[in-house]
Amino acid sequence: MNTYLDNAATTKPDKLVLEAMMPFFKDLYGNPSANNKCGRTIREAIDDSRFNIADNLNCTQCEIIFTSGATESNNLAIKGCADFCSDEKYHFIFSSIEHKSVLNLKDLLLCKGHEVDLIETLPNGLIDLNHLEDLIKDNTVMISCIYVNNETGIIQPVSDISEICLNRDIVFHIDATQAFGKMKIDLTDLKCDFLSLSGHKFHGPKGVGVLYKNKNTNLTCQIIGGSQEDGYRSGTENVPGIIGIGKASEISNTKMVENYNHLLNLEKYFIKKMDASGVEYSINGDIDVKVPWIFNITIFNKTAEELVDGLQDFCFSKSSACSKGNYPSHVLKAMGLDDDLIDRSIRISFSKYTDYDDVDKFVNRLEEEVEK
Ligand code: PMP
Repeated sequence: MNTYLDNAATTKPDKLVLEAMMPFFKDLYGNPSANNKCGRTIREAIDDSRFNIADNLNCTQCEIIFTSGATESNNLAIKGCADFCSDEKYHFIFSSIEHKSVLNLKDLLLCKGHEVDLIETLPNGLIDLNHLEDLIKDNTVMISCIYVNNETGIIQPVSDISEICLNRDIVFHIDATQAFGKMKIDLTDLKCDFLSLSGHKFHGPKGVGVLYKNKNTNLTCQIIGGSQEDGYRSGTENVPGIIGIGKASEISNTKMVENYNHLLNLEKYFIKKMDASGVEYSINGDIDVKVPWIFNITIFNKTAEELVDGLQDFCFSKSSACSKGNYPSHVLKAMGLDDDLIDRSIRISFSKYTDYDDVDKFVNRLEEEVEK
């Protein structure tokens, strides 16, 4: 049995999530748009799920758009904003450590005649807010920033960016894919226009996500059809997925503090164990601004490739799993690591299901492998 330490790539679905979804694969198969009893039952279940997400984010239900995942949510927010203001040439700012579903939109925006700039990253893994301030121009229309970086776990200063955007009337999009479900996000405190999240990152199903859209923010839909999701995302809904993401949100909301504390304790235990081992290592990014469940670690005397080959009983990654063609990591590069150090860096990530025994097994085997 593999020890699973790759929760930033995806998480194990919660049993209660699977139980909640199952009836919607079997008997509850009606089309939620159908004007009959079967359809109405499904519509109500979708509305309950929408309520669960809105309740977690402290926003209204009409601000929740179900999508196929965070890749689509990011695309919808950024392309939808660009298309809404297509009458003029605008300026977009992304951080240099975004997920590829944001960064790779740069070329598309340039083709449409817009401008795009990237915010530099500091060696501690935080984006450089001074550089962001310098980049802002009169025609800056949107800033997009990741909340918790998927490769390093560094928590970005989204509240500061929110203030900047509010003061200058700039649309703010947050990719909260690695944050939602594990740390509290209250949108009455954290003001933004768009926020993306994905079911499979917090023990829900794959293939379903959410885009929060502030009710006062404009957006041009990207998938045209039967006007589902208030016209912002057409197509018959992924009903089991939507039920699953709603249930996962409800579970995470009720267990947020308990799970967070478990992950904090696990982080402390892991670092203590690593320090006591003979493994020469360093954690990439400032541990004081990092979530406790993601670690990007350089192991000085082994390459990531050697470790992945040598530790076959453990699931972890040598760079982010969702950017297969992206090795060496653009995130570590932006933080100033050279190619040799990046080559020696791995990401391990915990979840509520990770326990002390998993950590023990991993560090012990890592130590053996490094000593070989
Ligand atoms: N943004 C971030 C920060 C992510 O970590 C991921 C998934 N690795 C995505 C977006 C894309 O999410 P999805 O798999 O739901 O398309």
